[in-house]
Amino acid sequence: MEKEKLTKDLKEVIVNTDILEEFKELFDSLNHEDVLSANIFKIFKKYFSYDISGLFFNNSDESSRNVFYLSIPKNNINLELTDKIRDTFFDEAEKYKRINEIQCNLSDGDVKEKSDITVEKFKHTELLMFKYNEKLTGGLYIGSTKKFTKEKKSILKIILHELEVIFKLKYLFNEQALHAFKDPMTGLYNRQLFDSNLENEFYRARRYIFNFTLAMLDIDYFSKINESYGKEFGDFVLTELSNILKLVFRKTDLVYRYGGEEIIIFLPSTPITKALIPIERLRAKIGEHVFEKDDKKTNITVSVGLCANYSKFTEPNQLLDGVGTALTRAKERGRNKVDIFE
Ligand code: GH3
Ligand code: MG
Ligand code: MG
Repeated sequence: MEKEKLTKDLKEVIVNTDILEEFKELFDSLNHEDVLSANIFKIFKKYFSYDISGLFFNNSDESSRNVFYLSIPKNNINLELTDKIRDTFFDEAEKYKRINEIQCNLSDGDVKEKSDITVEKFKHTELLMFKYNEKLTGGLYIGSTKKFTKEKKSILKIILHELEVIFKLKYLFNEQALHAFKDPMTGLYNRQLFDSNLENEFYRARRYIFNFTLAMLDIDYFSKINESYGKEFGDFVLTELSNILKLVFRKTDLVYRYGGEEIIIFLPSTPITKALIPIERLRAKIGEHVFEKDDKKTNITVSVGLCANYSKFTEPNQLLDGVGTALTRAKERGRNKVDIFE
């Protein structure tokens, strides 16, 4: 009896150590969500059997897409059920954060066209949200038609503990990375990130042929605001303008502070003809806004240049030249205008 217990304990310790080692190896793929989730599912599959599992990593960037990574190792779940699980899962996640777009990525297995498996058939279900400092770091779903034995449950407990660490690390990692690319005063992304993203997007678009448009916005006669009301009020105007832009472009949120009071907006999948309408609306909206702080109050106008990712361009800097040329033209036409580079 004594010996049996000892063997059992020993076995448990070995399993524990194995799991810890396996999770430690995941640290290398912390910033590759797809690789990370595939590796986590690999660990799951090794230690217990399930029909469907879903993983979600919360990004500290509110505007980013929410990806639900799915693993269906037995290929026995139909689309109706995956949709249902996704909805249930994100209803729960929504309690902790605003969920914008959701995307499902299949990490392994396949969705079956027809299947009689429903949630009611699951004998073991987990729907867990992980938090750190009151902030959502990630979530997990497991559905299994097989009952989990006591032993499996204790393994699951260890795995969940390790998973919590991974979610937390990843969250902090993202937050820190993002922080380095944000302009501290306005909270917009900085020029460094813009330069890097422009290059990426430019070459990506070359490969897959899709459209995007850049908008460069500059406040009209901003030096006068500083002269009349002081630099501090100027800073306030710039910050409030940035907040308006963040609200307007919440979904895509690719608004960068390019220079002092020059802001670049990246409009993905948008041809220039489609960009013109919302940008024109934005220009008018800014013109109507009253910037007010303490006893100071003013209106501003902005000029905007637009340039599409034309096929004639051979390098990303040509886009930047184009958008600058269009902006200069908007200024020359009397300011408070939108102009396009053709
Ligand atoms: P316009 O664009 O219409 O030609 O006139 P402008 O007076 O706005 O000229 P320009 O865009 O060349 O000038 C930028 C001015 O913006 C210079 C500086 O006084 C002000 N500025 C730039 N960055 C900041 C900032 O961070 N805070 C404040 N308060 N002012 C800034
Ligand atoms: Mg200006
Ligand atoms: Mg300027």
